[in-house]
Amino acid sequence: MLSDCHMHTEFSLDSEANPEAMVESAIRKGLDAVCITDHEDKDYISQGNQWTFDVAQYFTKLRKMQEKYRDKISLRIGVEIGLQPHLGEYYQNYVSQKPFDFVIGSVHLIKAKDPYYQEFFEGRRDGDAYEETFAETYENIKAVEDFDVLGHLDYVTRYGRHQAEEYSYARFADIIDQILRYLIEHGKGIELNTAGLKYGLPYAHPHMDVLKRYRGMGGEILTVGSDAHKPEHVAYDFQKVPELLESCGFRYYTEFVGRKPVFKKL
Ligand SMILES: [Zn+2]
Ligand SMILES: [Zn+2]
Repeated sequence: MLSDCHMHTEFSLDSEANPEAMVESAIRKGLDAVCITDHEDKDYISQGNQWTFDVAQYFTKLRKMQEKYRDKISLRIGVEIGLQPHLGEYYQNYVSQKPFDFVIGSVHLIKAKDPYYQEFFEGRRDGDAYEETFAETYENIKAVEDFDVLGHLDYVTRYGRHQAEEYSYARFADIIDQILRYLIEHGKGIELNTAGLKYGLPYAHPHMDVLKRYRGMGGEILTVGSDAHKPEHVAYDFQKVPELLESCGFRYYTEFVGRKPVFKKL
């Protein structure tokens, strides 16, 4: 597993990482490709700060770095867009304004609330909050067309009071199948996001049973990312990934270059 397709730098509101430090960490860990995917979460404001960045500055910086590191690593320019049902047109314009290599569509807000904060779970069971999140995810992927893979599909389970206790693929099979089917039919994929392991869950996102189901339904596009916000987390637990994916029926993983999937043998 020699590429990490999901990581953040100081262009994201929740990271202070120097972009060079992220790339140098990847080089030290022997990767041959990385994609930087900073947060563009339109209409998400926390403590007066927008979850957006200056895309012109971003490209200027990362283009220079592509030159600087060209003999050592292939650096790709991506973005993680925060899906919300009213943002279809906004992201269509946003994504087409610059030649991104890769666009992750992630759900960070469910009816304007972030599951990261406990109030999202207040007054109900974790399972109900998960159900609502999956239903909203399905609405989001129908409303926003311009992304390549759905990020961290079951990330909400990281923040539930009892995490995985009220979560299994079987419990939410109907809605998860709808999400997976829609993605497959529209030429999009999912990602394996190893941050689940970093947060103490017994699985990376999504759960192995979801990965197996996706593969069983004919899903082929699957990228792998650490979602690192610090240099030391680049390629987090990647040594576990090939075996995990093989056990779910995958023989290839995917990277994106110029928004086109490139399949690599595991
Ligand atoms: Zn995310
Ligand atoms: Zn991320």
